[in-house]
Amino acid sequence: MIDRASVVVVGGGIVGSAIAFNLLKMGMKNVCVIERSYVSSGSTGRCAGGIRQQWSSSMNVKLAMRSVKLFEQFEKEVGMNIEYYQGGYLLLAYTDSESDDFVKNVKMQKSQGLDVDILTKHEIKEKFPFINVEGVKLGSWCKSDGHANPQIANIAYAIAIRKMGGEFITHTTVTGIDVQNGQIVGVQTDNGYIHTNTVIDAAGFESPKIGEMVGITIPVYGERHQILVTEAVNHFLDPLVINFNHNYYVRQTRHGSLIMGQGDVNPAPGEDIGNTIEFLEEMSEKMVRDFPIIKNVHIVRQWSGAYDMSPDAQPIIDESKSVSRFIYATGFSGHGFMLAPAVGEAVAEMIIYGRTVTTDISNLKMDRFAIGIEREHNVV
Ligand SMILES: Cc1cc2nc3c(=O)[nH]c(=O)nc-3n(C[C@H](O)[C@H](O)[C@H](O)COP(=O)(O)OP(=O)(O)OC[C@H]3O[C@@H](n4cnc5c(N)ncnc54)[C@H](O)[C@@H]3O)c2cc1C
Repeated sequence: MIDRASVVVVGGGIVGSAIAFNLLKMGMKNVCVIERSYVSSGSTGRCAGGIRQQWSSSMNVKLAMRSVKLFEQFEKEVGMNIEYYQGGYLLLAYTDSESDDFVKNVKMQKSQGLDVDILTKHEIKEKFPFINVEGVKLGSWCKSDGHANPQIANIAYAIAIRKMGGEFITHTTVTGIDVQNGQIVGVQTDNGYIHTNTVIDAAGFESPKIGEMVGITIPVYGERHQILVTEAVNHFLDPLVINFNHNYYVRQTRHGSLIMGQGDVNPAPGEDIGNTIEFLEEMSEKMVRDFPIIKNVHIVRQWSGAYDMSPDAQPIIDESKSVSRFIYATGFSGHGFMLAPAVGEAVAEMIIYGRTVTTDISNLKMDRFAIGIEREHNVV
């Protein structure tokens, strides 16, 4: 293993990998990613792969719009087909207050340049005749939203990082960070010591543990979300459909399987990523009601993973005030896959230029919790 690096990224999920890739792309040498297990073993490998720009917070809209631009050129730039498919996202509203929120959000999203529309119940039925629209008031529709395969994207970044001369070290755990007079001097691992003055904490829901190594508190916690996949069926579902009211999302993969998930009703914060039979029963009931077309489709597998939740459901991206060049990118609250390309670019700019250039993410800093910030509401 190497013993010196200009930057050590802790965590080889999609976020850490996107940051390392962008550092190398911007010309930095000796970039090193340390991953405790295999590539995509964390939340990234458990994720549904949805990529949407329809958010309630303007910051998330801005970051997601930049990410979509980068996903559109991902294959050319990073070098692998990640099954990226822009089939749109349809969000369904069932109550008057939800409808009002959708109308308000669409107005804000349009003001940022997003091509997004409100669909009437009739328009939804015409466009997607297989959806049972009973109780639906309206929908929010963006055709440039879509999905991709998160594992392939993570692996694509890891391969590109190695090709570009970076180190991507797997099956190695960061166990400590040495700091002298507020400066980082090195990183301890269970596989040797790496001298460095810059550490990026991209350890997902475990990022607070890396923060503790330098004495800072990161207000992020794990929250279990369950998900399942069905047998493959003929393609019928272009968009990813989100139903906040019935608490689920569903999409179809290129292979034909349906991937669907929901937030647990009472998720205990923590690291539990077990599975329950109740989830299968609840999802089946909802799906048969809202998508009668799939009532005979078999479930083949279920799993769960942890969202890295922040207090306002928006990412926390900042440099520590007490430890120079300790940077964290975490708290993605269920949307870290889709934001990773833009976040990777922004964090690399912070490190190389001392400020972001392409996307201003200054209101994702830690001090927002002291002054108050809008909460992201569009989370399943
Ligand atoms: C069921 C589910 C569905 C989801 N659906 C979507 C979706 O549709 N769209 C979307 O955008 N997002 C979705 N997400 C969220 C998304 O998966 C995460 O936001 C994203 O993967 C976070 O990436 P990350 O790189 O920060 O974290 P991770 O992928 O968890 O990577 C962190 C890595 O750090 C490593 N690590 C931890 N501690 C150490 C250590 N001490 N030393 C070395 N390595 C360490 C871990 O092994 C891990 O691989 C979903 C999540 C779940 C669970």
